[in-house]
Amino acid sequence: MKIIENIKDMQEYSLREKQNGHVIGFVPTMGALHEGHLSLIDIAKENSDIVIVSIFVNPIQFGEGEDFDKYPRQMKKDIELLKNRNVDVLFAPSYKEMYPEGEIKTRVFVKDVSNILCGEFREGHFEGVTTVVAKLFNIVLPNIAVFGKKDRQQLFIIQKMVKDLNFPVKIIPGQTIREKDGLAMSSRNKYLSAEAREAAVLINKGLLEIISLIKNGNKDVDKIKKYFIQYVEKNKLNKVQYIEIVNTDTFDIVKELEKEKSYYILAAVYTDNTRLIDNMEVIIE
Ligand code: AMP
Repeated sequence: MKIIENIKDMQEYSLREKQNGHVIGFVPTMGALHEGHLSLIDIAKENSDIVIVSIFVNPIQFGEGEDFDKYPRQMKKDIELLKNRNVDVLFAPSYKEMYPEGEIKTRVFVKDVSNILCGEFREGHFEGVTTVVAKLFNIVLPNIAVFGKKDRQQLFIIQKMVKDLNFPVKIIPGQTIREKDGLAMSSRNKYLSAEAREAAVLINKGLLEIISLIKNGNKDVDKIKKYFIQYVEKNKLNKVQYIEIVNTDTFDIVKELEKEKSYYILAAVYTDNTRLIDNMEVIIE
């Protein structure tokens, strides 16, 4: 596996490979890799000739007081995982390489949808994400890029950015990979104590509970949300930050569920100071 740290080298590599007729698949990550990330790499492999993974903990998507400094970093272990998965290139730039002048003046921002849910509670987060993903697309020059449904709002926003700005990149979504008990895999799960780990499983269980309420004909979103909060917070380590249901086409928050429509149910929960997110899709028959 090639490791590239320099932007110019990365662009030249990709241009060369493209000239050779190779399709480039890209999986952007912040490292601390787990099976969720690795599943995206497998999807990239199936859809391209060359797989490039980036590891970059992007400071501009973290707010003040968030976990940028303590975000898990394990480059040596990640390199081994990527080698074992037969990744062709790891792109691992430094902060100086990505942001040589410190604050970046040019920003990419997807209006409206970036301000709700995670965007409401993490001000500037999605602007940081879309800005760095736009940069990475211009550096890695991929034909396809794989993003996880685990970060459903992020995936929606990236798809909108690609469409609105005509990036010549096909976005392929990857399923959420879960632990055996249902907890969505996340680099942040590393923060959880054994006790908190037990509490965290209620997020997945709570989502499944309200999906069965919905399947049983409940249409009142307020009631469904209240049920979720009660269910998850029965463990005192959990505090629900938000639970919302959105239309899958528009990402608009809805108050009432209608027949023959599909929705995403999305939640953010603090489990003992660790902020975890999860979501599921539900189709009303
Ligand atoms: P991150 O390193 O957390 O920024 O995530 C990098 C990519 O991995 C994003 O596209 C995430 O949506 C995706 N991802 C994170 N966790 C999972 C998971 N449990 N299953 C599938 N994809 C995931």
